[in-house]
Amino acid sequence: MRISRRITWFSTVWLFVLLVIVNSGVYFLFAHRTAETELDRIMSQAETIAEALRGDQGNAANLLAAYVPRDGMVRIIRENGSEAVTVTKYPELRAIPHSYTTGQEKEQLHAQERRMAVARFPLIWNDGSVVALEVIEPMESYESTLATLRLVLVIASLFILLPAFLAGRALSRLLLYPIQALKETMEDIRRSGSFQRIEVPAEPKDELDQMGATFNGMIELLEKNYEKQQQFVSDASHELRTPLTVIESYARLLQRWGKKDPERLEEAIHAIAEEAERMKGLTEQMLALATGEPDRTLELRRVQIDVLAEQTAKKLEQAYERKLHVEAAEACIVFGDEPRLKQLLFILCENALKYSEDDVIISLKNHEDSVEMNVTDKGIGIPKKDLPHVFERFFRVDKARSRQTGGSGLGLSIAKAIVDAHQGKIVVTSKEGAGTTFTVTLPRRGEIEVKSDG
Ligand code: ADP
Repeated sequence: MRISRRITWFSTVWLFVLLVIVNSGVYFLFAHRTAETELDRIMSQAETIAEALRGDQGNAANLLAAYVPRDGMVRIIRENGSEAVTVTKYPELRAIPHSYTTGQEKEQLHAQERRMAVARFPLIWNDGSVVALEVIEPMESYESTLATLRLVLVIASLFILLPAFLAGRALSRLLLYPIQALKETMEDIRRSGSFQRIEVPAEPKDELDQMGATFNGMIELLEKNYEKQQQFVSDASHELRTPLTVIESYARLLQRWGKKDPERLEEAIHAIAEEAERMKGLTEQMLALATGEPDRTLELRRVQIDVLAEQTAKKLEQAYERKLHVEAAEACIVFGDEPRLKQLLFILCENALKYSEDDVIISLKNHEDSVEMNVTDKGIGIPKKDLPHVFERFFRVDKARSRQTGGSGLGLSIAKAIVDAHQGKIVVTSKEGAGTTFTVTLPRRGEIEVKSDG
């Protein structure tokens, strides 16, 4: 059953139950009060008759004939159960069983398929015995009043239930409209494979609007991730195609000339080895990004980052035969993942070496709750317009110049992922022709939450 129908039926049935309870209460209370009034009236009639009989018992039958109710009966019952006098226009009423009593009594009974009110009143008969005066009258006005009341209650209930049912249906449809829209959009997305939004007011007013806004947010995230993935796949295949083309062309060259021409053989082998090496590095970096390597669970330990910088500088000085200066006035300790931090240092220092010819400076200093590390070079710098993009995957300022230096455009995006995983910050300041500084700020010991893979 649809939710709107369920809400409508639930509210209507609930209202119906309430109406039945309230109406039954009203009906039974009214019926009881009316019956009591009717019985009291019959009793006071019996009293009046008894009063009249007290004065004149000689002509009792005539007297009773004057007092008998229009559709009823009056009779005098002796102690032995026999009827002394009975007056009625309807002989069938005589079949109503009589009873003798010495006290006042009033009751309702069913006879001849009608409800009758009975009042009994004791009086002294002309022979000195105590007899019971019995007045019987059908409760017709009572029955007709209750029939009218039943009709009024049923009609009033219908007047309440019908509009309530219609209002409930309209309200549930109105409330569930956004859910319906959401469902239709989801079905559209499934059918067409496109990312669609649902219409929501600029300022969500209620939970349903908020649900719509959350849904749109989720779709936006999925779309962005999908686009990123598409971009990554196309960039990666583009990046891999270039070294493969170079390798292919040198292989052909070798096929044609290589074996006879030692100079070309040497050149081709050298170029193939270089491209293969570059491709290896590229695939390793891509794999690291694809498997979320920089974001994987950090193994947090106490790391003296100035010592790590010294070690990195030494290794790079040997490899590049260039000078790197580490400047740190005191020990700078963070609580981090050592291999990841080493990788971060390598990426920043290698870039500084690749894009400059002067010495590189790594300076470290402690702040109250963080450690700041600057990697500065006096190299070619980065154009202002490219600064916001340097941390994007596969972004290279000048493809030609980084091709010469063997760059892939992935280094800084990995560096950023490492810093993010440590809940730090990385920013770049640069001036073309003057140099570049990468500033990394890492929270100090113990303040990094352990990230999980989930
Ligand atoms: P790559 O592997 O190409 O160096 P990165 O992601 O490490 O990729 O860097 C992205 C781009 O940013 C590089 O192509 C380069 O143009 C620019 N860049 C990075 N570091 C420096 C720097 N220290 N000086 C000048 N340009 C830099």
